[in-house]
This record gives sequence, structure tokens and C-alpha cells, in this order.
Amino acid sequence: MSNIYIALGSNLEEPSKQILNAIELIGMIQGLSVTHISSLYKTKPIGKLDQPDFINAVIKLEGDISPEKLHAELQDIETQAGRIRFELNEPRTLDLDILLIDNIIMQTKKLTIPHPRMHLRQFVIVPLFEINQELNIPGIGSIKEILKSLPDQGVVKA
Ligand code: ADP
Ligand code: MG
Repeated sequence: MSNIYIALGSNLEEPSKQILNAIELIGMIQGLSVTHISSLYKTKPIGKLDQPDFINAVIKLEGDISPEKLHAELQDIETQAGRIRFELNEPRTLDLDILLIDNIIMQTKKLTIPHPRMHLRQFVIVPLFEINQELNIPGIGSIKEILKSLPDQGVVKA
């Protein structure tokens, strides 16, 4: 059985509702159960600044699923939420990123795990720390150290 961490984000069409709805759908994926849900956080956009604030959260799942199958299931849920892909850092109804699967390190054309930018993003690290303060990010370091090293990026509880 694997321990899986997923980051959720939305800044369009009632973001909090998008996040809660996505958590429900993720819990319905065959072979997985949701064991931890962080608070919802309100976050300033990065990159492209002229867009609404984001709501972000992190969840922990336990179960058995291949990384590829999980990624496909998450993309289906993003599509159901009406996400259309245009460009990086664009506004979106729903973004679901795989952060960690146990201590797996992998890099394929479609998937990099751990997520390559997770340790740079306060909106990922703050909710992740809320649900597990003892985590180690393979190839990067302890979550405590990462949290300390991050500049304030304006992440507050929603
Ligand atoms: P971002 O989440 O960085 O804003 P997107 O959601 O548009 O960008 O995803 C871009 C691509 O990132 C996807 O096509 C997906 O194949 C790839 N990707 C690589 N690693 C991961 C991961 N760990 N979780 C989710 N997507 C990933
Ligand atoms: Mg994504």
C-alpha cells in the first residue's frame, strides 16, 4: 500500500467548491482512500499576476494504483471540472498535481515525481506540512527545512 500526496488548486468558478468536489471524486478512484485533508488556503497567483487568487489544499491518499493510472484519473477529473489547457500559470478551474508517492523518484515524459516545483511553492509546502510534519521529500530534504527556507508568498487560511 502506497502513501500518496496530491496538491489541488483552483481560481475560477467557485474555487472552494471545485476543491471539495475534486476531493470527493478522488476518493471514488478505485483502490484509493482519502486519509487526510488539509485546510483550504488562499494564495496570490504567481507568474501571471492579473488573475484571481487561488484556493489550494493538499490531501493524502492510501492505496494501490500505478503512477500512470493515477495521473490519467486526475486528468479526467480536471477535464470534468471544465479545465481547458492553454498556457503555463494560466487561471484554471482545477489543477491536480501528484506531489509524492512513497519515496519514489521517477521521471518520464508525462510525470516527474516528486513534483519538480513543489519545494519552491509555499501554497504546496504549507498545507503538506499541516498534514505531515515529518515528511522527507526524496532528493530534496525534510519538509521542516523546506518550510523554513521559503520566502513568504502570501499564503493564508481561507
Ligand atoms: P502546472 O500544474 O505546472 O501548472 P499543468 O497542470 O498544465 O501545469 O501540467 C503540465 C504537465 O505536467 C502535464 O501534462 C503533466 O503530464 C505534467 N506533470 C509532470 N509531473 C507531474 C506531476 N507530478 N503531477 C501532475 N502533472 C505532472
Ligand atoms: Mg498540474
